[in-house]
Amino acid sequence: MTRLTRADLEALPSYVPGRSPADLARELGLPEAIKLASNEVPYGPLPGVVEAVAEAAAGVHRYPDMGVVALREALAERYAVAPERIATGCGSVALCEHLARATCLPGDEILYSWRSFEAYPIIAATTGATSVRVPNDAGHNHDLPAMAAAVTDRTRMILVCNPNNPTGTSIRRADLDRFLDAVPDDVLVVLDEAYREFVTDPGVPDGLQVYGDRPNVAVLRTLSKAWGLAGLRVGFLVAQPEVAAAVRKVVTPFSTSAVAQAAALAALRQQEEVQRRCALVIAERDRLGEAVRKLGIDVPDSQANFVWLPLGDRSAAFGAACEARGVIVRPFPGDGVRVTVGTPAENDAFLAAAEAAL
Ligand code: PMP
Repeated sequence: MTRLTRADLEALPSYVPGRSPADLARELGLPEAIKLASNEVPYGPLPGVVEAVAEAAAGVHRYPDMGVVALREALAERYAVAPERIATGCGSVALCEHLARATCLPGDEILYSWRSFEAYPIIAATTGATSVRVPNDAGHNHDLPAMAAAVTDRTRMILVCNPNNPTGTSIRRADLDRFLDAVPDDVLVVLDEAYREFVTDPGVPDGLQVYGDRPNVAVLRTLSKAWGLAGLRVGFLVAQPEVAAAVRKVVTPFSTSAVAQAAALAALRQQEEVQRRCALVIAERDRLGEAVRKLGIDVPDSQANFVWLPLGDRSAAFGAACEARGVIVRPFPGDGVRVTVGTPAENDAFLAAAEAAL
């Protein structure tokens, strides 16, 4: 058959959405299965979001505001940055891709730590850039000195995931300061802070507050996690106005939908409730990490809403054993298993499954 698509895509891993809990429940004959695989917060939409979605639905025969003016202004106020420094997108994963498009020509390099967010290699490959991966250090964290040493003339963008998905590890301020000082001015450093709201360690810098004014830094945030809007796909970035404008230029037109914009505005009014929910997640994260350590697994300290079980060759079997007990987690075969923090009852169900599986 004549080939219509790029041959190199065959070798590219797919973004794994994880199993559907409904399918697993049906298969196991259970009333329901538990999904702890996509780092969502388990407490439902924030108050006011469903109403905002319903209201916005009345206008969906029209295109949304392409300038995303009201939402960018609300974000600008919330995070104390100028609106022209903000771009929004269909999840922060889309913005990461737009940044790659805005910075890289074919053959240019995107540098990142590995293992990290599984979308990074896909974004690099599909935008024609070359992935340069630097292995995580023994503590499952970014090896920043090795990353600085891996910068070449072709490096255009560096992705720093803090806290890191899927290991939950985080980078401390002095280390990040040193790294940013070492990176050439013409390389964009993207601080992917999808899990920032779950950080409790004061030694982990808030990229917006600490590095927001550095000319070659862009900070990525999402409303999918702490803000509970994963299903509506809203992410944003804060960068220098030229970078934000370049991203707005390459963005797929109208990709932050009218419903998503309305929901995000409603969510941003729920600051206190977000903090309350994050506190619940954080307490459960710490309980979960401790409980798994008691099972003999060396779980690194997590500053996110998930924990990492470095099970190596046992990862796939552990994931399958949890699924057989109705709990969907995210195994990375040969490496480890990531478990999202759920409700206390969900976490107890996972711990029971884990104990049986180990
Ligand atoms: N960055 C990281 C590190 C993530 O883990 C995720 C979601 N899994 C994203 C970005 C993307 O989130 P979204 O596209 O939902 O905003």
